[in-house]
Amino acid sequence: MKQPELKANERELIKLIRFFSKRAKSLIETGQLDPEHEKLTAACQNLEQQLYTHAHNRSAILEKRAHLERVVEDNAQCPQCKHADMLKRTGTTSNEHGWRCNTYKCRRCNITFTWNRPNNPWHLVEFLELYIKELDTALQTEQSEQMRQHIITSVAQMQDSLSRLRPVLQDSEDEVTALEEKEKEMTRLIHQFKNYLLIEKIKLDTLEEPEV
Ligand SMILES: [Zn+2]
Repeated sequence: MKQPELKANERELIKLIRFFSKRAKSLIETGQLDPEHEKLTAACQNLEQQLYTHAHNRSAILEKRAHLERVVEDNAQCPQCKHADMLKRTGTTSNEHGWRCNTYKCRRCNITFTWNRPNNPWHLVEFLELYIKELDTALQTEQSEQMRQHIITSVAQMQDSLSRLRPVLQDSEDEVTALEEKEKEMTRLIHQFKNYLLIEKIKLDTLEEPEV
């Protein structure tokens, strides 16, 4: 398994744990430290394991989140030549609704433009909701039966997309919230354990004090 990325406080504690375990082990071996102390060493290793599990979990959730950011295919096409083959993405911008959209350059027409459709699922949900509302309004005054059918089909397709998108986004939201909670808990634990180890380390230092 690939080593997950650790935060600075996690790295610092793991370093301390390793240093402390090594010191304690050699002191037990030379009989300068009560074997009872092994319990503390075991607790240290247990915590180190917990830290890695947490870090793995965090990177998996963040990776899923990053994937979700990129999942929307905006199907952009040049407003002038109506093609997509010569498009080059130049960046992102926010439109009047606050939705993040991609900007493009068409190398055939040599123009740059903003594709007015969100490039991410969160804004896509808002886009679909607004679009459905507009179509519903249009339906109320539409006279042509053919147009009415067309609108009804479009709305149904969009409702379908929405019902597939919403639970995915909700799951991701729940995961991120749970991760944030866990992060707080780990930060507290790391802080407490670090202080505890620093005190234990001072005790070990005292044990090793040269006799005068
Ligand atoms: Zn073009």
